[in-house]
Amino acid sequence: AAKQNGGNRYKLYDAKIEFETAERVVLENYLRKAIKQDEFFLQYQPKVDLKTKQITGVEALLRWEHPKLGTVSPNKFIPVAEEIGLIGTIGEWVLRSACVQNKVWQEEGLPPLRVAVNLSLYQFREDNLVQKIKDILMETGLDPTYLELEITESMSMYNEDYVVEKLSELRRIGIHISVDDFGTGYSSLNYLNKLPIDTLKIDRSFMKEDNKTTIKSIIGLAHNLNLKVIAEGVETSEQVDFLQQNGCDEAQGYFFDKPLSTIRLTKKLRELCGV
Ligand code: C2E
Ligand code: MG
Ligand code: MG
Ligand code: MG
Repeated sequence: AAKQNGGNRYKLYDAKIEFETAERVVLENYLRKAIKQDEFFLQYQPKVDLKTKQITGVEALLRWEHPKLGTVSPNKFIPVAEEIGLIGTIGEWVLRSACVQNKVWQEEGLPPLRVAVNLSLYQFREDNLVQKIKDILMETGLDPTYLELEITESMSMYNEDYVVEKLSELRRIGIHISVDDFGTGYSSLNYLNKLPIDTLKIDRSFMKEDNKTTIKSIIGLAHNLNLKVIAEGVETSEQVDFLQQNGCDEAQGYFFDKPLSTIRLTKKLRELCGV
């Protein structure tokens, strides 16, 4: 039966490929115009200290609202932006916007927060990443200690010396570096020890699967390496209890807050400090 349907199946398959290609071209073209047409914005998700329950920082998450496509997930458009060479421009927009906003909060007199920005490995391939970041800090007047960069754990990252060099330089000026989605890649422990980083972010999948052994191991590993550790994707009070009992430093997730618009987060910060 499989053989008999083979012909049809191929036709269906071809049609699907063609559709996907067309869709992809459309997506690429829309993406190229997105900055100019002001379709990007950031949401901010709080990071909470598990001892004091205070917000220590926020992660900036990129959002794309297209008039025809609607909301497109970063998981879908970031890889496309990387492939077509747009991630540098988009990444710079994110960095600048996040630094500007953080400075606005500080000037309003709100307790200082660290703003975390996700960086793509592709951004490290460009020669001037470090200078660009320094320029943005200069322009916005944000103290580097209030900027954090999240990079994902990936094999290639650890094998490329220039990434380590750039990270060291960024860290030397006071920027914090965290490793996102930790535990899903294959970094060797020896290498991790040499990386110029401050924090490990336990990948959300371990929370979801309730993988207590792995979570405890990562907390122990981080502390042995003198790193801070934060859990992402925390959705329940049971998870919070478990993390607290096991010495996890911080947490982030829907239990505390979903990613919030600038307006909503500003309101929340004002309420918290009574401004
Ligand atoms: P990420 O950096 O690991 O961000 C965490 C993702 O988990 C976010 O998805 C966030 O909305 C979601 N999340 C947070 N708490 C919970 C929770 O309790 N439960 C569940 N189910 N999900 C939670 P989002 O915003 O869709 O972003 C997806 C990924 O896209 C990010 O993963 C990051 O890798 C990438 N991304 C987002 N913004 C940027 C950016 O400006 N630049 C780059 N290069 N990548 C970005
Ligand atoms: Mg992240
Ligand atoms: Mg993550
Ligand atoms: Mg992720």
